[in-house]
Amino acid sequence: MAKKYDVVIVGGGVAGLFAAYELATYSSNKIKIAIVEQGSGNPFRRCPMFNSKRLVRDKECLLCKPCSILTGIGGAITFSSGTMNLRPDVGGDLNKIVGSWEEAEKIIGYVDNVLVKFGAPDNLYSLNVEQTAELERLAAKAGAKFIPTPQRHIGSENMPKVINNITEFLKQKGVDVYEFTEATDIIPGSSHIIKTNNGDLIGRYVILAPGRVGAEWFAEISKKRGVDTEPGPLDIGVRVEAPAYITEPITRIVRDPKIIMYTKSYDDKVRTFCTNPYGFVVEERYPDNSVGVNGESFITLRSKNINFALLVTLRLTDPFEDTIAYGKSISRLATKLGGGKPIIQRFGDLEAGRRSTWNRIDRSVVEPTLKSVTPGDIAMAYPYRVVINIVEALRKLDIIMPGIASTQTLLYAPEIKFYSIKAKVNRELETSITNIFAAGDGAGLSRGMNVAAATGVIAARTILKREGIDIEF
Ligand SMILES: Cc1cc2nc3c(=O)[nH]c(=O)nc-3n(C[C@H](O)[C@H](O)[C@H](O)COP(=O)(O)OP(=O)(O)OC[C@H]3O[C@@H](n4cnc5c(N)ncnc54)[C@H](O)[C@@H]3O)c2cc1C
Repeated sequence: MAKKYDVVIVGGGVAGLFAAYELATYSSNKIKIAIVEQGSGNPFRRCPMFNSKRLVRDKECLLCKPCSILTGIGGAITFSSGTMNLRPDVGGDLNKIVGSWEEAEKIIGYVDNVLVKFGAPDNLYSLNVEQTAELERLAAKAGAKFIPTPQRHIGSENMPKVINNITEFLKQKGVDVYEFTEATDIIPGSSHIIKTNNGDLIGRYVILAPGRVGAEWFAEISKKRGVDTEPGPLDIGVRVEAPAYITEPITRIVRDPKIIMYTKSYDDKVRTFCTNPYGFVVEERYPDNSVGVNGESFITLRSKNINFALLVTLRLTDPFEDTIAYGKSISRLATKLGGGKPIIQRFGDLEAGRRSTWNRIDRSVVEPTLKSVTPGDIAMAYPYRVVINIVEALRKLDIIMPGIASTQTLLYAPEIKFYSIKAKVNRELETSITNIFAAGDGAGLSRGMNVAAATGVIAARTILKREGIDIEF
C-alpha cells in the first residue's frame, strides 16, 4: 500500500532539507512531508581525524566516529568546506529566478540565518570598500573581473553537525526521512506517484532536488514524463593546487575570491570557483565509476596548500546539445587515461606538452594533498579548446596572484560540473507539470549551497501559499 504525503521531496541535500525545513516550520504539522534520499551524495570523504580519504559504506565509517553521525542525508555539501556565499548571483542566478535582487538577497540572508541557528560558526569574511577597490583594480589589470562576495566559512568539520542538527529538527517535526531509498520514477497525476526501490509513495506535491549526482536521473525522468527542460552550459576545467602563501595576500581578505575572465583565443568564460586556502584536493567518484576532483578545507585541519577550480564554461548548439553526455564522455576518457584515478600534471609539463611523472612532481615545491592520482597529460583527455582556455586563464591569474602560473603548480583533472540540464520553471519554481517543483543543482537551478537552499525555500513557500498558509517573510 503506497504511503500518502502532502509533499514528497526527492533528494536530501541542502535544497531538499531547506524545503522540508520551511514546510515543517510554518505549516504547524498540517503538511505531511517525506524526504527520499538514496544515500550519500558523495560516498568518498576525507576523515578529519586521520587526514585520509575513505569510502563510507553502509551507514558507518568505523574509523571516523566524529562524522559517522550521518552518511545518508545531506548531499554534496556535507563533506565540503561549507563556504556560504552571501550573494544571490554566486552559486547560481537567484536574482534572475525571482526577478528581484533585493528579494533574492533577502532569501540568501534567511538561509544563512537558518544555518547559524543550526550551528554554523560565526566565521564571516567581508571586504571593506578599499579592499574591494584594490582587488577590482588588480583584476582589471589582468583583463578580469573580481566579484566581491561576503562569505561565511562553516568548515568541513562543522558541516556534518549542521546537517545533522537540521535533520534531527525535521524528524522531531514529524518529517519522514527515507534514507538509502532511491526514487526510480515519478508518475504525474492529480496526486503524483513516486516509485522507489522500497515501494511507492504518493505526494500531492513533489519537489525534485536530486543534486549533481542525480542530474542524469533528472534529465531522464524529465524526458520520460514531460518536464520541460532546456540545455544548460557545461563547466569543465582543472583543480589548481599551489603553496598557500602565493594567494595569501588575497585569500587573507577573501577566502574564496570570485574572478571571471574571458580568454583571448576563444572569448570563452573562465572563472575561479571553490577556493580552499590551506585545504585539500579530494576525489569524487560517480555511479558510473568515473572519477572527478574537488576541494575542501577545515577550520582546525590545515595543509600548506591552496586549491581552487578553474572552470571553462562551454555551450553546445544544434545538432548536439547534450552537455551532460559530452562532459561524461570526457570524464570517462580522463578516468581511463588515469587508470581509474584522477590525472595530476604540473602546469609546466602541460605547457611543455609532456606528461608529468612522479619524479618531476616529487621535485616540485608543491606536495600534492591528493595522493591517489596518476601523473599524466591532461591534454590527452581534454579538448584543445579547454586546454588553451586553462593555460590562458592561469597566465591572466598570474597577474593577480603572482606565482600561480609557476611551472610547479599542480593541476588535477577531471573537474567537471554536471548541472547542465535546466528545468524550465516559473518564479515559484514549479515545472511544466502542476505541483511538481524543481530545486537545486540537479535541476540546473543552482551551483552552490546558498542558491540550492534558497530554491528549496522558494518551492516550499509556494506550496505553503497554495495550502492557505501565507506568511510574510
Ligand atoms: C566537494 C564539494 C565541495 C563543495 N563546496 C561548496 C562550498 O564550499 N560552498 C558552496 O556553496 N557549494 C559547495 N559545493 C556545491 C554544493 O555542495 C552544492 O551546490 C549543493 O550541495 C547542492 O545542493 P542540492 O541539494 O541541489 O544537491 P545535493 O547536495 O547533491 O543533494 C542531492 C541529494 O539527492 C540525492 N538523490 C539524487 N538522486 C536521487 C534519487 N533518484 N532518489 C533519492 N535521492 C536522490 C543525492 O544522493 C543527494 O544526497 C561543493 C560541492 C562539492 C561536491
